[in-house]
Amino acid sequence: MATVAVSVIPYYKPVTMLLIYLPVHIIFMAFMLRFQKSNYVQYANNLNSSTFLMISLAISYMRYKKQIEDFKNRKIIQEKNEELKRVNKELEEANHKLDILSQTDSLTRVFNRFAFDKAIEAEWNRCKRYSMPLSLIIVDVDFFKAYNDNYGHQAGDVCIRRIAEALSSCLERPTDFVARYGGEEFGVLLPGIEKEEAYLLSERMRKKVEELSIPHEHSAASRWVTISMGVNTAFPSLEPSLEGFIRAADMALYKAKEMRNTTVTV
Ligand code: GH3
Ligand code: MG
Ligand code: MG
Repeated sequence: MATVAVSVIPYYKPVTMLLIYLPVHIIFMAFMLRFQKSNYVQYANNLNSSTFLMISLAISYMRYKKQIEDFKNRKIIQEKNEELKRVNKELEEANHKLDILSQTDSLTRVFNRFAFDKAIEAEWNRCKRYSMPLSLIIVDVDFFKAYNDNYGHQAGDVCIRRIAEALSSCLERPTDFVARYGGEEFGVLLPGIEKEEAYLLSERMRKKVEELSIPHEHSAASRWVTISMGVNTAFPSLEPSLEGFIRAADMALYKAKEMRNTTVTV
C-alpha cells in the first residue's frame, strides 16, 4: 500500500491523494475497532496510519509542487529557445542585408567600388587557377561635367542611374559583373570572355546608352549622352600583375577619350 501510494505521488494533486488515502485510513481504523481487542495495539496502529497519511500528504504536496515548477521551467526554456532562434534568424537576415548594402552603390543600385575591388581580385585568381581569360571594360561618360553644369546635378544623377541600368541589361551570364567604379565611371568584369567577345559586348553597351537618347546639347560627340570605353583581356596565368591589367584598360579608355563615343581595345 505504501509503495503504491509513494509511486503515484508525483502524478496526482495533493487533494486527489487525500481522497485516496482518507477512505483507506478510515476503513483501516474501522477494521481495527472491530477486530483488534487490545487498546494499545489499536492506538499504535491508528497513530501509525495517521502519521503515514500526514507524511504522504506532505511528500505528495512537495513533489506535486516541484513537478509543476519543473513543467513551468521547461516551458520557459522552450519559449526562450524559440525566441533565441527567431532573434538569430532576424540577425542573419539583417547581416545579409547589411552585406548587400555595403556592396551596393546607393545611387545606381549596381555594385560599388568596394565590391568591384573584391570581385576583380577573386576573379583574377580564379581565372589564373583555371587558365581562363578575364576581360575588363572601363566605362566613362562623355562630357559629363558639361551635362551637370547645364542640366543640373539631379538630372546628372538620373542620367548615371539610367546608364547603369543600360550597362547591366547587356550582361547575360551570372558571372558578369558591373560596378560603379568612380563618379561617372563604371567597371565591367567578364570572366572567361575572350577579347573579340568583350569588344562586341562593349559595342553593344555603347549603342544601348546612345539609344537611351538622353539629350546632351553640350557634348561635342553626339546629340545624346554617350560613353567611351577601354577594354583589356588577359590570361591571368600568363600576366605578371592585376594592377598592370587594370592600368592597361585605363590607358585604352584614355585613348578612347581622344575620339569619345568610342571603344578602344588593348
Ligand atoms: P570626359 O568626356 O573627358 O570624360 O569629360 P567629363 O566632363 O565627363 O569628365 P570630368 O572628369 O571632367 O567630369 C566628370 C563629372 O562627373 C564631374 C562630376 O561633377 C560628375 N559626377 C561625378 N559623380 C557624380 C554623381 O554622383 N552625380 C552627378 N550628378 N555628377 C557626378
Ligand atoms: Mg571620368
Ligand atoms: Mg567623363
